[in-house]
Amino acid sequence: MAKWVYMFTEGNATMRNLLGGKGCNLAEMTNLGLPVPQGFTITTEACTQYYEDGEKINDEIMEQIMDSIVKMEEITGKKFGDKENPLLVSVRSGARASMPGMMDTILNLGLNEEVVNILAEKSGNPRWAWDCYRRFIQMYSDVVMEVGKKYFEELIDKMKEEKGVTQDVDLTAEDLKVLAGQFKAEYKKMIGEDFPTDPKKQLIGAIKAVFRSWDNPRANVYRRDNDIPYSWGTAVNVQMMAFGNMGDTSGTGVAFTRDPATGEKKLMGEFLMNAQGEDVVAGVRTPQKIAQLQEVMPEVYKQFVDICHTLEDHYRDMQDMEFTIEDRKLYMLQTRNGKRTAQAALKIACDLVDEGMITEEKAVAMVDPRNLDTLLHPQFDAAALKAAVPVGRALGASPGAACGKIVFTADDAKAWDARGEKIVLVRLETSPEDIEGMKAAQGILTVRGGMTSHAAVVARGMGTCCVSGCGDIAMDEANKKFILAGKEYHEGDAISLDGSTGNIYDGIIPTVDATIAGEFGRIMGWADKYRTMKVRTNADTPEDAKKARELGAEGIGLCRTEHMFFAGDRIDAFREMICSDTVEEREKALEKILPVQQKDFEELYEALEGNPVTIRFLDPPLHEFVPTEEEDIKKLADTQGKTVEQIKTIIDSLHEFNPMMGHRGCRLAVTYPEIAKMQTKAVIRAAINVQKAHADWEVNPEIMIPLIGDIKELKFVKKIVVETADAEIAAAESDLKYQVGTMIEVPRAALTADEIAKEADFFCFGTNDLTQMTFGFSRDDAGKFLESYYDAKIFESDPFAKLDQTGVGKLMEMAVELGKPVNPKLHVGICGEHGGDPSSVEFCNTLGLDYVSCSPFRVPIARLAAAQAAIRSRED
Ligand code: ADP
Ligand code: MG
Ligand code: MG
Repeated sequence: MAKWVYMFTEGNATMRNLLGGKGCNLAEMTNLGLPVPQGFTITTEACTQYYEDGEKINDEIMEQIMDSIVKMEEITGKKFGDKENPLLVSVRSGARASMPGMMDTILNLGLNEEVVNILAEKSGNPRWAWDCYRRFIQMYSDVVMEVGKKYFEELIDKMKEEKGVTQDVDLTAEDLKVLAGQFKAEYKKMIGEDFPTDPKKQLIGAIKAVFRSWDNPRANVYRRDNDIPYSWGTAVNVQMMAFGNMGDTSGTGVAFTRDPATGEKKLMGEFLMNAQGEDVVAGVRTPQKIAQLQEVMPEVYKQFVDICHTLEDHYRDMQDMEFTIEDRKLYMLQTRNGKRTAQAALKIACDLVDEGMITEEKAVAMVDPRNLDTLLHPQFDAAALKAAVPVGRALGASPGAACGKIVFTADDAKAWDARGEKIVLVRLETSPEDIEGMKAAQGILTVRGGMTSHAAVVARGMGTCCVSGCGDIAMDEANKKFILAGKEYHEGDAISLDGSTGNIYDGIIPTVDATIAGEFGRIMGWADKYRTMKVRTNADTPEDAKKARELGAEGIGLCRTEHMFFAGDRIDAFREMICSDTVEEREKALEKILPVQQKDFEELYEALEGNPVTIRFLDPPLHEFVPTEEEDIKKLADTQGKTVEQIKTIIDSLHEFNPMMGHRGCRLAVTYPEIAKMQTKAVIRAAINVQKAHADWEVNPEIMIPLIGDIKELKFVKKIVVETADAEIAAAESDLKYQVGTMIEVPRAALTADEIAKEADFFCFGTNDLTQMTFGFSRDDAGKFLESYYDAKIFESDPFAKLDQTGVGKLMEMAVELGKPVNPKLHVGICGEHGGDPSSVEFCNTLGLDYVSCSPFRVPIARLAAAQAAIRSRED
């Protein structure tokens, strides 16, 4: 019989896949002898089984759950469903990778009217009993029956108003009892039946709800953003309650062993007395700083600090913990490696190495490459920032510089972002429904909430700048305006946020580009030490190339020459070329382009200082270059000595039904060899010149022919290139070396890579086109149906962003395996969008590619991902 349920005493930290993050760490803390309310974990496999069984908990799993409840009763001396001595539990989700705020928890499960009445009397603390009950009805209704929080919150607000109090804690036992009654009536109104009284029924309902929450839209979006496969499933933890809401000797809190925003080594956290569960993060009251616990309860504080040390030493990483104090007794409810900003991640990794806690390799492995993105984004210009006077100040909850126009709702954020506006989302507080809007925003500003509020945690996870808890704002969300420092701000007004200091500025403060220094530099240095794959960049201009070099690129993996044809008056010459009738006319136009293109290449080689440069020959269909404006057509006609009609006829003749699969790539060079000739001359002449000027560099151009599907295509174009290049080299009496290779981006090229490798010095996977042609759908149109594909679980992610290793990857593997034996000198890289995606980089490492090439700002991400791949492959 399969084992579907584990007591906390049976698990440990290595069982993350089976028990989920929360479950395996509850077990590990139990093993460490820490005070953990006991319970059990229903495995992730049970979740998968639940879905396989058609959203049912089968008998075997059910039996093991009930057996475990009996074991819990033995441990706790309480009885589930008992009237006098009831065992109350929490039901908590917990996937392998932590998904904060994505899944829902139910507390105080096991209560009903009869039990709560006895409990109220026997405990001598009726307020506590009724508070537990009203919370349970609220959470159960929301999570299990999906009634929604709003109605309950409205009832609470109404009650507070009637009683003339502002805070939940000021409501009396009697008030809470009345509220519980109202909640149940609300439940009945919405669901059409009575609130369940049978604890077993409640428990099953709650467990199923956690399983179901694995598939809610928020969870699906979060998974897609964070590369978490749907197939993993979530575990469910059933745990005895620890009550932080028993009065002034009880409380609940959260803490980090190091500052998750800066990485500084100091205990950080917040707590609330007489509170339960999410009260601290939900912003119902302003929490106290963890240091204040020392004054409130010195012994508990000391015990907690000791536990923090134990946990950090044990996990050798910054811990994010939840705790509850029940009548002066401390309970640990969760620990995990804390989410952190990119800055904090780098600092913590370096500090842990310096403290002798971890190796350099471990430090490299523990920084999430996707996080680096934020550090590579612009920062405020220091001088401009110094000169600016903040109009407000709150918590710097997630660093970064954000400027943009104010919007007040997540939907507006999405809509404005879709129009290309830079926006700052300003809200009273955020909730999981706001995620998409938060993603669209440059920055987030909230009126309520601390460092662990929803906005703060989610923003840090996304790497989005966030300033939270600005109580000085007089907010009027309904009318989309607020007042700060005497000024009224409306939708569309400009504002700037500094996520590091928490400062808020009126208007836009200029920003500057980021650099790699300090801890960032140290980590990147270690990454370079341990990685085996090279990292190049996709760059078309000397500026991009220089930026990429600063960010550590070791060459250009893809220079798209067509981009060079658009600038300034070059497009005119290029249009003349396209609209020529004869080879002679075409050559005349190309003569005009040659020197400009040669100069571009010279600048590119200069920027690369002797590192390899791969230049791809003209690729897109020609219609992309022709004029559409009447005035431009006239101008072209005049220079060509043709009529407007004649030009229009030529333009019409360029029309293609399916341009992506039309007259493009090497097909252009086959029909117009003179284009390839001109490009070869430009590449070679530029290389000769730069080589002459810098004897110590090795200028070694790599000419890359796009869209090859047949060896004969490559042979044809290569012949033109080699004849032209050799003639140039001979004429210049140079000994320049150059290479001719091909993109592998048509499936047929991968399938016949053994033939192609005979003629190619290198392969470079153009995974954008290869993905498009392997799936048979266009990358420009995929947006029309990808959402439906996600909903239908056909795709979990966008194959143009994250490489399809199964299909496209198989073609790549085939190309490498067919090509390398034929041509041992063949070097192989990737230059699609995927070259900067960490999981795709890891895959390339597995295939044994020589390099990945990505856009300049992703170079550091690729360097780190390549190092992690190398370290992991050595561990396996
Ligand atoms: P999340 O994954 O969203 O953090 P959790 O399962 O950790 O959800 O729980 C939500 C809140 O409920 C947390 O504040 C947690 O500490 C609290 N909680 C969970 N289980 C218990 C319990 N057995 N006793 C007291 N508080 C609990
Ligand atoms: Mg938690
Ligand atoms: Mg291509």
